[in-house]
Amino acid sequence: MPIPARELSQLKIQMENRRQVLLEELSRQFKDSDDKSLAELVGKVRDASDESVASLLADLNAVHMETEARELSDIAGALLRMRTGTYGNCLDCGTEINLERLKIYPTAKRCIQCQTAHEDSRSQKDTTPSL
Ligand SMILES: [Zn+2]
Repeated sequence: MPIPARELSQLKIQMENRRQVLLEELSRQFKDSDDKSLAELVGKVRDASDESVASLLADLNAVHMETEARELSDIAGALLRMRTGTYGNCLDCGTEINLERLKIYPTAKRCIQCQTAHEDSRSQKDTTPSL
């Protein structure tokens, strides 16, 4: 069963709010660091389309903002999948991801089974985090 439009827009709002919080957080950190180019970068992310966010975040990632940058990247990806109509489908097996799971974790790319398998195989292969 596809995700009802009402639930979908709730999830969208949830992610957009989260993105706002993350950007505020990054802005604050960069203000403290007194690095104008980084503050500028955050400004660009704020205005960027979801498509171009990834490349901007690669720069952020390089300056040890891994957690926020990764979450922002996940949000951009999820919003993009909403627009292309693939949101809520598991990346690996194509099954619809449980709505309750999406409510807790709106940027989920995989169903629980595939996510577990994915994490297992990743932790066995290497420990390098991938964006
Ligand atoms: Zn799956």
